[in-house]
Amino acid sequence: MHFSERMSRLGTETAFNVLARAKALEAKGHDVVHLEIGEPDFDTPANIIEAAANALRNGWTHYTPAAGIPILRETIATHIADTRGIKVAPEQVVVTPGGKPIMFYAVLALVEPGDEVVMPNPTFPIYESMVNYIGAKPVFVKLAEEEGFGFDLDMFADSLSDKTRMVVLNSPSNPTGGVLSKAQIETVAGLLRDRPDVWILSDEIYSRILYDTDHVSIASEPDMQDRTIILDGYSKTYAMTGWRLGYGVMQPELAQRMTQLQINAVSCVNAATQVAGVEALTGPQDAVNDMVTAFRARRDAVVAGLNDIPGIRCVMPRGAFYVFPNVTALPIDQDELARRLLDEVGVAVLSGTAFGAYGKGYLRLSYANSLENIDKALGRIGDFVKAL
Ligand code: PLP
Repeated sequence: MHFSERMSRLGTETAFNVLARAKALEAKGHDVVHLEIGEPDFDTPANIIEAAANALRNGWTHYTPAAGIPILRETIATHIADTRGIKVAPEQVVVTPGGKPIMFYAVLALVEPGDEVVMPNPTFPIYESMVNYIGAKPVFVKLAEEEGFGFDLDMFADSLSDKTRMVVLNSPSNPTGGVLSKAQIETVAGLLRDRPDVWILSDEIYSRILYDTDHVSIASEPDMQDRTIILDGYSKTYAMTGWRLGYGVMQPELAQRMTQLQINAVSCVNAATQVAGVEALTGPQDAVNDMVTAFRARRDAVVAGLNDIPGIRCVMPRGAFYVFPNVTALPIDQDELARRLLDEVGVAVLSGTAFGAYGKGYLRLSYANSLENIDKALGRIGDFVKAL
């Protein structure tokens, strides 16, 4: 079969492949603990479900304006203005099916073949995939374990060139749980200030899942908002992965172009889901706070449990719901380890290399699972490693 040449450059998200393999094993009767996929195990809060059900009953069953219903764009603009301390108008908001399409739209709208896009590594694999797909070049900045997986700022400064068209930031980070400090964000902004042609894609999808630290957005830094695209959404914060609801916030002219891309791709987000999105941001936030409290307890358990296993070392992440343990002291590499943990002891995790070359020597575990299942997984991993 003939596929377009660009399809050969398109990457994927390994988590979905491992999930499929884990499900196939379960279908054959195996017991699998899922630490591979990045989604909260909680149910969507009841008030949000109720809002969507009512919306369906009340006729929200039609197409909506492509960039989102006005009340949702207003609600999101207010939320981003309040949480980032910036001015945002509803025209700057594009509502998308999940936050992910903002990556695709941003790269399609702004990056030319041959341009360079600077991004962290290890990182969420879709940035690299999109950039390769359109024939541009990803340039990687290492997230070093020794620095709590923050940006290596010297490497970042060296990575900028005349061809740099976009910089991707992701704090809190998938896969490391690392968080960029205010000082680091200021340094990045300082390095970009005299490069007005460089766009910033700031993926802030985990901005509400933070432990002992506040969220800092580069859009809040002087001169940065006009060229920053904030990506955020509902999947992680409100346990709404399956609903597909996210958004980008950007300058109005770019928002119009992204809307045009959306019209070409999906027309608009499901109408009732958009109504639920208003309720999520304006209704009670207790469920979000409870989830973060639960994630913190799980984080503490998983980090302590991994550090108790000889040959594994794990730093304490400050955000998101992932840990990125170092497994270089073990006699097998991260790929074989991930594969055998699933096949032989029923623990689904990802190899660090699913997130780029600097993920070599690491695993990624999502601790968005119950403490009971985390304990079970740690026991199995410990026994497996001891028998190597
Ligand atoms: N950005 C990062 C860093 C993520 O980890 C994910 C999901 O795993 C997304 C964006 C996409 O989220 P959504 O489900 O809203 O498309």
